[in-house]
Amino acid sequence: MSAPVITIINVMSLPFSGGTWLNLMLGAGEDAFSIGEYRDVIYKGQGYAECVTHDTGCEVWPKVDVNDESADVFLQLAEVTGKKVLVVNGSRKTFEWQRHQRIRPVVLYLQRDMRALVASALRKNVHGGFMKTLRSYAHEEVRMRKIIKRSGFEPVSVLSYEKLKADTAGELQRVSQELGVAFDEGQLSYWEKDHCYIGGNRGTLLNMLVQQDKQGEHILKKHQQSGDIKWDFSTYSKKQDLACLTDERWRKELSQWQKFVIDMTLLPFSQLMRLGI
Ligand SMILES: [Zn+2]
Repeated sequence: MSAPVITIINVMSLPFSGGTWLNLMLGAGEDAFSIGEYRDVIYKGQGYAECVTHDTGCEVWPKVDVNDESADVFLQLAEVTGKKVLVVNGSRKTFEWQRHQRIRPVVLYLQRDMRALVASALRKNVHGGFMKTLRSYAHEEVRMRKIIKRSGFEPVSVLSYEKLKADTAGELQRVSQELGVAFDEGQLSYWEKDHCYIGGNRGTLLNMLVQQDKQGEHILKKHQQSGDIKWDFSTYSKKQDLACLTDERWRKELSQWQKFVIDMTLLPFSQLMRLGI
């Protein structure tokens, strides 16, 4: 009997687009597993994968040899977890490994209103001032589209964060169908499943652990130690209805002028999109 083929869903998105949230929902499927941000393993070069949700008590990642930079990393993971659908963010550097007879790589491109992204980055002071932040995001958007096109991976499903918020079940079902993976309603309550997540949005992950009545202090502690970006964890440190959680802070945080500049900068993008570039 030949070995089974596994599907890798490559979630492509700009920072603060909701990529962690989407990954967790897709990974909560019966036959799926959320890897998280694989770029953390590659760029840090630390020789092991750091499971954010379990911290030192992880039972999955220590069994996978992440130093083996090949398709084997994914095949080992499928073997250890018994899952056939792996969901990964920040996986661009693994695209070559995914060209393997036992792997079916697909792409899910998540887009979010650029005004929300810029406001989020400004709040956390990731890039500095407004124009610098906007330039950086516009540049990344072009780069990402090129990467997706060059990968040749198919199918590519496109999803908008705003639509996903408005109709989570409907949109998840649609993209699952397009990508050829199963969808079940249980994915909507992703916090009811135990995840082994690498990297990702600290706020989203902290919130998930709080929801599970687990301790998320290690996330706060690690954030303090890294001291990289500003982060207001107050909204993530208490239980809330995660299914209805929306972030509209950008509407108040950005000035009319800033919103106008963003719209003007993005105008050429909508033209390019129409041309399929
Ligand atoms: Zn774990």
